[in-house]
Amino acid sequence: FLVLIVYGNSYAQTKKHMDANKPIEDRITLLMKEMTLEEKVGQMNQYNGSWDVTGPKPESGSNEEKYNNIKKGWVGSMLTVRGVKEVRAVQKIAVEETRLGIPLLFGFDVIHGYKTLSPIPLAESASWDLEAIKNSARVAALEASASGLNWTFAPNVDVANDARWGRVMEGAGEDPYLGSKIATARVKGFQGEKFDNNSIIACAKHFAAYGFVEAGREYNSVDMSNSKLYNTVLPPFKATVDAGIRTFMNSFNTLNGVPATGNVFLQRDILKGAWGFKGFVVSDWASIGEMITHGYAANAADAAKKAAIAGSDMDMESNVYVTELAKLVKNGLVKESVIDDAVRRILRVKFELGLFDNPYKYCDEDREKANIGSKSNNDGVLDMAKKSIVLLKNDKNLLPLKKSGAKIALIGALANDKNSPLGSWRIAADDNTAVSVLEGMQQYKDNSLVYEKGTDVAVNKQSFLDEVKLNTTDFSGFEAAKTAAKNADVVVIVLGEIGFQSGEGRSRTELGLPGNQQQLLEEVYKVNPNIVLVLNNGRPLSIPWAAEHIPAIVEAWHLGTQTGNAVAQVLYGDYNPSGKLPMSFPRNVGQCPIYYNLYNTGRPTDKDQNVFWSHYSDVEKTPLYPFGYGLSYTSFAYKNLKIAKPSFQKGEKIEVSVDVTNTGNFDGKEVVQLYINDPVASIVRPVKELKGFELIELKKGETKTIHFTLTDKELGFYDNDGKFLVEPGLFNVMVGWNSNEGLTTKFELK
Ligand code: BGC
Repeated sequence: FLVLIVYGNSYAQTKKHMDANKPIEDRITLLMKEMTLEEKVGQMNQYNGSWDVTGPKPESGSNEEKYNNIKKGWVGSMLTVRGVKEVRAVQKIAVEETRLGIPLLFGFDVIHGYKTLSPIPLAESASWDLEAIKNSARVAALEASASGLNWTFAPNVDVANDARWGRVMEGAGEDPYLGSKIATARVKGFQGEKFDNNSIIACAKHFAAYGFVEAGREYNSVDMSNSKLYNTVLPPFKATVDAGIRTFMNSFNTLNGVPATGNVFLQRDILKGAWGFKGFVVSDWASIGEMITHGYAANAADAAKKAAIAGSDMDMESNVYVTELAKLVKNGLVKESVIDDAVRRILRVKFELGLFDNPYKYCDEDREKANIGSKSNNDGVLDMAKKSIVLLKNDKNLLPLKKSGAKIALIGALANDKNSPLGSWRIAADDNTAVSVLEGMQQYKDNSLVYEKGTDVAVNKQSFLDEVKLNTTDFSGFEAAKTAAKNADVVVIVLGEIGFQSGEGRSRTELGLPGNQQQLLEEVYKVNPNIVLVLNNGRPLSIPWAAEHIPAIVEAWHLGTQTGNAVAQVLYGDYNPSGKLPMSFPRNVGQCPIYYNLYNTGRPTDKDQNVFWSHYSDVEKTPLYPFGYGLSYTSFAYKNLKIAKPSFQKGEKIEVSVDVTNTGNFDGKEVVQLYINDPVASIVRPVKELKGFELIELKKGETKTIHFTLTDKELGFYDNDGKFLVEPGLFNVMVGWNSNEGLTTKFELK
């Protein structure tokens, strides 16, 4: 009895796993030896919750159960708890009030910044600037970590090609190659070089195929060939594993009839098997419980069992692991080794982060005060915002605007909106904290600037859950807008979606300008056709009338906190835009999904030999603006596309080069894009596939030779069994300025 007391008292000081000199795997083993089954299961439980730490502890009320479960050691992670004070208070319960003192992970949706917001991820992807994207994720990590957080549920690496799906705003667009590069950049930005106190763990989501929900309808099911899965969906996920990502999130959808959350093939065979992923998988919000509604699990116990066996290591808010798993193990329905594997993965991340050695490592009030909203964070997101803008059209050289002596009418509710530009997924940011376009343009004082709203986009203001009701009946502002336009040299009109029209749960069947904005545009055009249309949106829009009539169109997405400054600098030519579309823009919604890397049909190709014949009879078969498209204030000429030899052996490096000259009147940047096509293969290959790109900067008149190298990695593809094949034969190569235009050549692979 005495011995036991001595042991019990000294346990806290002699916890063997606390010896920081021991290897992490040994520390985990030592700790797990001390853990009860319930404590192990507790590590697999994640709750959402926040409470006012200045008030009494929530020992009763809505958070009572959660709070008490933390005290029992039955919680491994919290989401949404944020701010140093709150994180510290909750961490303290885990560390000081539980038997083993295991620290919690604090997760949060840091999707495009924390309080200082970057452009939405789709917009950032339009920069094709991997360094800038990495820096943007770094800014997000600095702020989130300064707020006590150590884990972000980002990046979203869902390849997606259906603009109806609202969540396209969170991803990198339609291409797996570009998506993989961007995924890598984001992981490196969030996680940093090492896990010091300003790096946070990243989470690749949503595993897998969520970007292909049928008809772009949110939460819908996915049916897909394995070849498409391996070649299109999985590469960006694999890239995050190669970049050292520590967590994955699974997804709401079924894949070929099996929920991703209960999917052994995805989580065990591919992720943890073939790819050797050593981190852990968190479920999507309540997605374990949702397997019941899917019709895949009979009840909570069945759902917990199926998810755990399939390799979902942590239960986000279904509350079924903590209630069911221990019983399932005791009844012999789930092996304890399944639990042990999950717990080891979760503990590994906590050890790697250094939370055992200092659980309050992220809780630094001084850093919180100094970092959040700092000048350098704002400079960072401004840089990213400028780089994200895509110039879609610039006839009559309407842009850049003259800096003095011009009369400008600025029209559109979004021009004077400080909230919408923040975009969707901005939980920690305060409302109305963006620089509006109006504010940005007002800084150019030597012009006369008149602002008229014209019309509102929506009737109700946006919130995450409200349905957005569009304004289709109030035309009362049209006359004033037309008068302003009539008296101006140039009209800048800002139209598009409000911030919450895209994002989770925001699938739409109309992709035109919402509400009566299209009518406003046409009315204004009648009195003054010198219009610069600035688009604000979280998805590709379908704007065929504008593309035909409006001389200048600037795609400005939702650019975050610094929106107005970025837009104004581009409009006035202080920044020469170089963005290129990461998703095709459809001519109408009926074209969706539309994307450049599609397959040929069996119908003959046209005279150019490269045009597919699948079509509708009432609209052109091409998109309005293709993937990779974007203009500059200067112009570029491509010449001398060269390939080292006419034929190569498998395994050889294939060198491709091209000369690009800045032929216009401004210094500028260009994204040089390389596409291949494998015209005969054992599984048909897309008509084009991006396999290289280079963002270059050229002074007026300057020429640079750009080099690309192709290897088996770029030339091969996966078959339906996941086998990587490199097949000999002819390959077509295009190097160009968008997915539809460029110089072409070919070579043979022997
Ligand atoms: C979303 C995830 C997100 C999670 C936590 C879910 O509804 O699908 O992307 O990370 O909520 O907020």
